[in-house]
Amino acid sequence: MRVLFVEDEEKIAKAVKRGLELKGYAVDTVADADTGLSYAVDPDYDIIILDRMLPGSMDGIEVAKKAREEGQKAPILLLTARGSIDDRVEGLNSGADDYLVKPFSFSELVARIQALLRRPPIVTGSVLEYDDLSLDPARYEVTRGNTPIKLSSKEFALLEYLMRHADQVLTKDMIINHVWNEDAIVMPNTVEVYIGYLRAKVDRPFPKSSQLINTVRGFGYKLSK
Ligand code: CA
Repeated sequence: MRVLFVEDEEKIAKAVKRGLELKGYAVDTVADADTGLSYAVDPDYDIIILDRMLPGSMDGIEVAKKAREEGQKAPILLLTARGSIDDRVEGLNSGADDYLVKPFSFSELVARIQALLRRPPIVTGSVLEYDDLSLDPARYEVTRGNTPIKLSSKEFALLEYLMRHADQVLTKDMIINHVWNEDAIVMPNTVEVYIGYLRAKVDRPFPKSSQLINTVRGFGYKLSK
């Protein structure tokens, strides 16, 4: 999942980016409101986290409002310094989906992100399920049938993206834009390589089950039965 984090406090930005990347998210960080808005209109983001107080010509609430006006549909999480009722109402009216009061713990932030990314109907609780495959973003666990599968953070992120868009054809560009951040140098070939790693762990050891990661020749990939 691709995350935009607009935060001017460098220490927080760096720590959150590092933590989320360890969990398999692809994170871009931006430190001011105006650059933040230019990023926040990008439909490739799956979630946007905005600090409320930002340097630049507007605050985080204004960034959220404008991004929504420009058609951004991704969930927006607002970080506020204090959780006054006014802040909360104003934040939620601006188009933000949730807010988190600073200082927050990293696990709290992750829980909010996961809650915002939860989408019916392929989701049962927080666990994504497809055929006999299940992925728990909170526990960072993947199983097929009753067999646990160990994945690297990138493989996990790729599988999560495929599962959230099961039965849809995903092009290599879509996969690159949602699974890697803008600093990553990713060739279309890299996607093939990671799809190969995933197949070796998710499909090949289970010859009696259906092979779920399918190539759609000329288009991309699809998780399907
Ligand atoms: Ca700030």
